[in-house]
Amino acid sequence: MCFYPQVLWPSYRMRIFILISMVMVLLSLSGLSRINAAVLDETIRVAIVKSASEILVGGEGLLVTKENGDALIIAFPVTVALAKDGMLVEGKLYRRLTFSASTAVYVNNKPYRGLAELTVSEKGILVINQLPLEEYLVGLINCEISSAWPIEAVKAQAIIARTYALNRKMARITSPYHLESSVIDQVYEGSLIEDSRARRAVSETEGEVLTFGGGIIQAFYHSSCGGRTEASENVWGTPLPYLKGVECLYCLTAPSATIWEFKSSLKDLEDKLRTAGYKISGLYDIKPGAVNSRGRLKQVTLMASKGGVAISGEQFRKAIGYAVIKSTRFTVKNTKNEISFSGSGNGHGVGLCQWGAKQRALDGFGFGEILSYYYPGTELKKLSDIR
Ligand SMILES: [Zn+2]
Repeated sequence: MCFYPQVLWPSYRMRIFILISMVMVLLSLSGLSRINAAVLDETIRVAIVKSASEILVGGEGLLVTKENGDALIIAFPVTVALAKDGMLVEGKLYRRLTFSASTAVYVNNKPYRGLAELTVSEKGILVINQLPLEEYLVGLINCEISSAWPIEAVKAQAIIARTYALNRKMARITSPYHLESSVIDQVYEGSLIEDSRARRAVSETEGEVLTFGGGIIQAFYHSSCGGRTEASENVWGTPLPYLKGVECLYCLTAPSATIWEFKSSLKDLEDKLRTAGYKISGLYDIKPGAVNSRGRLKQVTLMASKGGVAISGEQFRKAIGYAVIKSTRFTVKNTKNEISFSGSGNGHGVGLCQWGAKQRALDGFGFGEILSYYYPGTELKKLSDIR
């Protein structure tokens, strides 16, 4: 009998050891789930339709709630129409309606994850899509680039889109929504064109954001820079230490995405400028002004019958159209009946150059190297580590 405790002793120690190990595993698992929950609980609110007079909503098994939280029974698809003091649905008036589904809510025939919230703004019906941030990113990838690009470039896109969205969310926390669904912020078409490769890039970078000095950066990006990225102060007047502009010859390997030309009659240009609020008449030339150290025009002068009007390159782009004057890196040729613009780069040129990032990924760089190149001095961090 006397040896019995000695036999038991190692077993007893083993039990304690196993118990401690189990507690440690459980603690670490609960820590992990806390981290994942922090990332997965993060939601984002995106304005998907603005100023509408009518919205068509559909989907399978939709749950509808009105402003006081009560559920509504409606037959789908349903048309929500703008009325004098709210929105009309099946003859009844509402101020706020929320539609959610386990799969997708269809708004004007486009599928969205999460929920769709319809309210009345000054200009019409406003539809906000609220959904988990990570799901938003999966939908966004193919709106901004192609998920068929090298995976490191797709991951870089996932991280900057996440970073940009969170930065905007913090800046607009008291606003009805955090993001526009157009080039004003980030292009987003719901879950219409999401795919497994976009999902992979998002999940393999889950919760990763770019930071500077511990804070989430303003991760601006654009389609192609045309040779050198732009400094933030040259576009928005505010200098940022990680947006000074870097050399980028990588996007020039894709000329179709980088080189552009636009031709117009002077009359059409004058009409556009007048519509944009410039009171000019008898426009006979556009004179490019000085070029900044990043190769972009600081100014252009509108030569009209009563003299010249100098405006910034960005103002000129805005007036004529961002889709035709694709960047402020251009030259002008004026023939008798036509004026032609030849340029390189597409977008404001600040931050990451998407076509440049694609080429860098093809050259074998990882997403971390691509990001630190376009945003010098920044650090990649997990969202859970900075909150
Ligand atoms: Zn570039």
